[in-house]
Amino acid sequence: MSDKSNNSTQLVIIGGGPGGYAAAFLAADLGLEVTLIDPEDNPGGVCLYRGCIPSKALLHVAKLLGEAGEAANWGIKYSDPEIDIDRLRSWKEGVVKRLTSGLGQLIKQRKIRYIQGRAVFQNNKKLDVTDIEGDKSQLSFEYAVIATGSRPATVPGLIIDSERIWNSTAALDIRKVPGSLLIIGGGYIGLEMGTVYAALGSQVSVVEMMPGLLPGADRDLVNILHKKLGKKYAGIMLNTKVVSMKETRQGIKVQFEGADAGQKEITFENILVSVGRKPNSSDLGLENTRIIITEQGFIEVDEQRRTAEPSIFAIGDVAGEPMLAHKASHEGRVAVEVIAGQKAAFEPRAIPAVVFTDPEIAWCGLTETEAKKQNRPVEVTRFPWAASGRALTMDRPDGLTKLLIDPETERVLGMGVTGAGAGELIAEGVLAVEMAALATDVKLTIHPHPTLSETVMESAEIFFGQATDIYRPKKK
Ligand SMILES: Cc1cc2nc3c(=O)[nH]c(=O)nc-3n(C[C@H](O)[C@H](O)[C@H](O)COP(=O)(O)OP(=O)(O)OC[C@H]3O[C@@H](n4cnc5c(N)ncnc54)[C@H](O)[C@@H]3O)c2cc1C
Repeated sequence: MSDKSNNSTQLVIIGGGPGGYAAAFLAADLGLEVTLIDPEDNPGGVCLYRGCIPSKALLHVAKLLGEAGEAANWGIKYSDPEIDIDRLRSWKEGVVKRLTSGLGQLIKQRKIRYIQGRAVFQNNKKLDVTDIEGDKSQLSFEYAVIATGSRPATVPGLIIDSERIWNSTAALDIRKVPGSLLIIGGGYIGLEMGTVYAALGSQVSVVEMMPGLLPGADRDLVNILHKKLGKKYAGIMLNTKVVSMKETRQGIKVQFEGADAGQKEITFENILVSVGRKPNSSDLGLENTRIIITEQGFIEVDEQRRTAEPSIFAIGDVAGEPMLAHKASHEGRVAVEVIAGQKAAFEPRAIPAVVFTDPEIAWCGLTETEAKKQNRPVEVTRFPWAASGRALTMDRPDGLTKLLIDPETERVLGMGVTGAGAGELIAEGVLAVEMAALATDVKLTIHPHPTLSETVMESAEIFFGQATDIYRPKKK
């Protein structure tokens, strides 16, 4: 609720996503007087309203549908599922509502002033605030944290004005299950949404300009997913571009150009454009400050997340890659600690990335691709899940756990996993990298049996040529 009576604040946070609300909560816990500004009625940002949370709720349903389909292999036959799309949508919305209203409660408990509206910088000490009713006011501040996040990128000159063309927000709205869906962009958001719609019954195709899906992730991790998606999707076109789109009565006629284009012109009922995200750094009045914006539109910050204006900080998607919720929250906490006078810096050794497809892919720390680029010697130990008892009990041998180990010091530098639940397993790798664990530490840590976490321990055992469940003698 807006409180217009007070026109100054010690700390203002602009944007109530996982960066902004984490920052606001810690600041209040540290005794600062805090104002949080966001257009929604409760905090949550992209992550809770139209990102991480709704997508994971739908992916949970996709997983269930997938497992029900596989169950015939185990002697259990379900009849074909009946999908009530309205019920599915309202369940997903219920999850979002529960979480965001919970954050609203936490705002009140912490006595944070919440203004539902938008803010623009008048100068380096004052904001123009327009609340949800359109009322304008000014707010001066001692410190500000910009946490305005990002929005879906588009392809200029290609996108036409049609309700059949979706971005991630429209796809998450889940109004219908199209007969055919083309996903433009083989990044994690497109592939996650493709997993949802394919499970619900759409014929999903993906087109990606680059030679592989999920550019940036190690190929051995991606290959397992690619193989599985090859069976679930109607088509995966790599090294291929969409060159034009035209609306017809049947759908959107798409023209392709490139190596895997095959049929050059195909009509799809719907299109999901998922070609990345752009930081929300324009329309903020930053030109009225000394804040510097990079060519990609990110706000330039130092290791304390301070901008070129000493009293203004920036965190989360608007402050640079990787655009991930957990990175935003950690940056928010660092910025607030600095503002509270503590010695803090944002210098993680490992920020985990998770792709919640089926199978999932997760990695952290050094990747093999980066090691090659840096010409850095690493030993990579790979444990295939076909040798994991737990993976076989789940009928999920389609997995791989790998560690990147410094051959001289034995330090764990990175971890990668593909497989069911990879997103949960990666936290062990993050801890190992952050704690500068040695391969011996991971090897000697007793992991519970039978679990997928044993694949991490066995990957460390491979480094010594001593894995229990697979024969990999140490290279001489
Ligand atoms: C479909 C999808 C799935 C995703 N899945 C994951 C995932 O599984 N894991 C993960 O880590 N990340 C995921 N992400 C990315 C994640 O959502 C973002 O990295 C995260 O939300 C960034 O947090 P943030 O605090 O920087 O900003 P945001 O969450 O973008 O929040 C910014 C807020 O600021 C508000 N705002 C903007 N301008 C102003 C202004 N002038 N005044 C006031 N308020 C303003 C916005 O309205 C918004 O509410 C996903 C994203 C999408 C789109």
